[in-house]
Amino acid sequence: MAQDWNDNDVKPQAGISRRNVFGAASLASLGVAATSMWTRKANAAPEPKKAVEELATFKYDLEGQTHWVGPGGSAKEATVEEFPISESIAGVSMRLEPGAIRELHWHTLAAEWAYMLEGRCRATVISPNGQADVSDFEEGDTWYFPRGHGHCLQGLGPGPCHFLLVFDNGHFSEFGTFDASDWLSHTDPKILSRVMNLPEAALAKFPQKELYIGPGKVPPQAGEPFRNQETQLLMGTHKYRLDKQPPRVYPGGTEHIVTSKEFPMQTTLTAVRMDLQPGALREPHWHPHADEWQYFVKGRAKITIFGSHGRVKTEEFAPGNVGFVKQGYGHFIEQVGDVPTEILVLFNSGEYQEISLASWLGANPVSILETNFGISKDDIAKLPLKESGILRRA
Ligand code: MN
Ligand code: MN
Repeated sequence: MAQDWNDNDVKPQAGISRRNVFGAASLASLGVAATSMWTRKANAAPEPKKAVEELATFKYDLEGQTHWVGPGGSAKEATVEEFPISESIAGVSMRLEPGAIRELHWHTLAAEWAYMLEGRCRATVISPNGQADVSDFEEGDTWYFPRGHGHCLQGLGPGPCHFLLVFDNGHFSEFGTFDASDWLSHTDPKILSRVMNLPEAALAKFPQKELYIGPGKVPPQAGEPFRNQETQLLMGTHKYRLDKQPPRVYPGGTEHIVTSKEFPMQTTLTAVRMDLQPGALREPHWHPHADEWQYFVKGRAKITIFGSHGRVKTEEFAPGNVGFVKQGYGHFIEQVGDVPTEILVLFNSGEYQEISLASWLGANPVSILETNFGISKDDIAKLPLKESGILRRA
């Protein structure tokens, strides 16, 4: 497209300056079509209009950090502060001791998704219409709490639990949430006394500052009724057993893909658990309408991204690393090592979209590929016709 060409790629012909050519009046007065005045430089693709920046780093060592540690657990995070490329998604790795509580809180900026990596926990969540959900989560289960909905987590034991939290906004920080104890400890005791039906002396027993995560007693495993027994239950609506969903099976691995179709509550994210066998290759593709955020659970892999202007960049990822591929950027994943690789992948859309290089090549006539790539019909006949998802070891 001519308007994308750089000045260097189009040459004004003798005697007519570029400035004049772009004056509509002068063109009209000459009575000449603009195209006739320009010649395209032979065998050169258009050059960028301004200097092209290098591709930004797209890897961050989340588990290598020590951000917050307390007697009840720990939390480390990847927001735009730590991982600038990840504007649309933030991640947190959280651990809770048995009985420990991540206190009643909400988020103004983001919805919260989680995947249980280890152990068990219980979550309560309230919706704006007063309906509430209490659900228990074990390895392979996920939850989704819409933005602003109040919630609370508690370790169920017997051992500690560990989960990955993902938020649909890179500017969200787990260390700036709206916590109940923070609010109460900064509210006039006279007001609190009126709304809590307690004398001011009793209020002094509440935490005098934000609790965040605190140790606690393991709750009854069978569960307990809500204090207000008229509370309408929305049991299980915020929970989805990702690992129990049958995966898509490819020659070199599998993918559990959970969109808002499978998990209606999860409106702003798509979640994927990707498992790659040793030597596997997640084939080249891109996602037209979403960013891709990855957390490496097990094994290693190399990701190569393509960002136009000849820019490609490869990073190797190990367990606890986080990766990010911008919307529309081409990419592929090569499994590394003898241990199968497990990756949790999040997209910032409830709908999943992907276009693969293989299916694109299949969806064109032979003559287009002949002309585009200058290759023979014989070679074109060998090209893939459709996507294979994950290729097995070569
Ligand atoms: Mn939360
Ligand atoms: Mn992808």
